Amino acid sequence: MRVDIVPVGDVSAATKREASAGLRSIYECEVSVAAEQSVPADAYDESRGQYRAEAFIDLATRVGSGDKAIAVTPEDLYYRRRNYVFGLAYLDGRGCVVSTYRLQTSSDGGFSARPAEDVFADRVRKEVVHEIGHTLGLEHCENNRCAMNFSPTVREVDLKEETLCGTCQRTVF
Ligand SMILES: [Zn+2]
Ligand SMILES: [Zn+2]
Repeated sequence: MRVDIVPVGDVSAATKREASAGLRSIYECEVSVAAEQSVPADAYDESRGQYRAEAFIDLATRVGSGDKAIAVTPEDLYYRRRNYVFGLAYLDGRGCVVSTYRLQTSSDGGFSARPAEDVFADRVRKEVVHEIGHTLGLEHCENNRCAMNFSPTVREVDLKEETLCGTCQRTVF
């Protein structure tokens, strides 16, 4: 399997590196990085000040060349009635998206002893593993340590690991 990372907007080199490393280590896949794409202006909702997540999945699917394509963006995303999302994927789809916008938020989970860049890097890895997991058919997992656990806040992201639990692993491999 090859996963193509599609940067949408100004994505830092560190973010691309962490996303690649996370995907390689968990899925043992090849990872490529596509050319940077401009943010789809028609996906912007002025009243919310946020972008519609589905448009980023469409863009990744169109531009990305891999078996799977994941858009990574610093922009703030929403989906339907949810105030924000860290990412979005369709089950068994080819494309998905991760937004780093709210992953910068400081956690109140007692992880303040670690440097902010390290905490951020871990979150990026966990969220890309999570969204690609959905594209491989994984649904949300009850195990709060598993990368497929539904984690709507950074606190919950910080509590889980970047790895898949045994049950999720057996489903994918
Ligand atoms: Zn999910
Ligand atoms: Zn799991």
